[in-house]
Amino acid sequence: MTAPSCPGYNESISALGVCRVLATRPRGTTDVLPPRSERWIRREQRFREVCRAFGYPEIILPMFEHAELFQRTVGEATDIVEKELYVFPDRGGRLLALRPEGTASAARAYLENGLHRGPQPVRLSYVGPMFRYERPQAGRFRQHTQMGVEVFGADQPTADVEVILLAAEYLRKEGLTELSVRLNSIGCPDCRPAYREALRRWAHPLLPELCEDCRSRYHRNPLRLLDCKETRCATALQEAPRSLETLCSACEEHFAAVRGYLADLDLPVSVDPNLVRGIDYYTRTVFEVVHGRLGAQRALCGGGRYDGLVEVLGGPPTPGVGFGMGLERVLDVLESAGETEGDARPDLFLAIADERARSQAFAIATDARRRGLATLFDLGGRSLKAQMKAAARAGARFALVLGERELATGTATLREMDTGQERGLPLAEVVDALCRG
Ligand SMILES: [Zn+2]
Ligand SMILES: [Zn+2]
Repeated sequence: MTAPSCPGYNESISALGVCRVLATRPRGTTDVLPPRSERWIRREQRFREVCRAFGYPEIILPMFEHAELFQRTVGEATDIVEKELYVFPDRGGRLLALRPEGTASAARAYLENGLHRGPQPVRLSYVGPMFRYERPQAGRFRQHTQMGVEVFGADQPTADVEVILLAAEYLRKEGLTELSVRLNSIGCPDCRPAYREALRRWAHPLLPELCEDCRSRYHRNPLRLLDCKETRCATALQEAPRSLETLCSACEEHFAAVRGYLADLDLPVSVDPNLVRGIDYYTRTVFEVVHGRLGAQRALCGGGRYDGLVEVLGGPPTPGVGFGMGLERVLDVLESAGETEGDARPDLFLAIADERARSQAFAIATDARRRGLATLFDLGGRSLKAQMKAAARAGARFALVLGERELATGTATLREMDTGQERGLPLAEVVDALCRG
């Protein structure tokens, strides 16, 4: 093999004579190493705890579906389907897609498993990877993880409020305090077509000023003009008509009720008429939960109501509302604030000064591990000094030296690593003492 013919040739691995693609992850993916992986798992656990408290059991969905599921529900004219969907034919010639989001799959599962025939509403949560063929810009990954919830079969405004509160409660439990909700209503099949036309008529003279994407959106999905990130588009569309001005009375009532409930809660809410969200199936309420002060806000969670979704899949008219939250984004925010919760810190490090003490070490380690104490010990061959260094590097809370003297006397010295304090203990009582704290 010659270096130039191998895509992404890597010097450090070339010595092994192995093409680098064998030892390189695909673009847009990432490896989550400890301690970040420990913090990651803590986020998932906490999300699950909050979902349990709100009564949202977890559904485990496949990571790929028929491509058509997303094309028909998320929408052909959205970036997600048009540019970012991972579509592939399998060996049987079926056109499949890695899921780009969770709601369409959840709706498919709700219908396919007959959950619509049981008691309503059906509350569900999920955690898992989603896939989008994102443009390779900083911070964008092609596999990311979403934590989300869905409620099927509830048309009440209180359902919208419940999922917003669940998201906020989870983020609060993570210690995030600068939370607020961005809220809008994009109407329903009764009132949205008229709004879409009004927006189109209004935007027509501005077409030459808009970006290429917006010129295409204009024809196929004009609402999306409003959330274009290009400055020239945002400026041109500043005075555009708002969906809130043309809501039918049922949509207006629903939106007023959602705002009413939220106003009574300890959560700042702002109405953002440009919030449309880039997915076709949303109706009425759309929202984001954002973190940070004004000007430096970051959306951690986005969701909304999708009353027509189950029907698109061939089911009965079924209202629904939910959100998806980017786990990596939450983790980034927490880590930039110095988050270390979940970092693995061993409770006990056993240093072995004499090989004859090894079986004693195995016995103590097994007892400690059984009782839930994270315990490490040297696997052999290192000096006592090197072992104590390793204990400090691992961040162990306590270290215990086992050698000839300890075996002879049946006692050992337990050292608290942070303070350097030491105390002598009978070997049989070490684990008890640690369990007591
Ligand atoms: Zn309406
Ligand atoms: Zn644009």
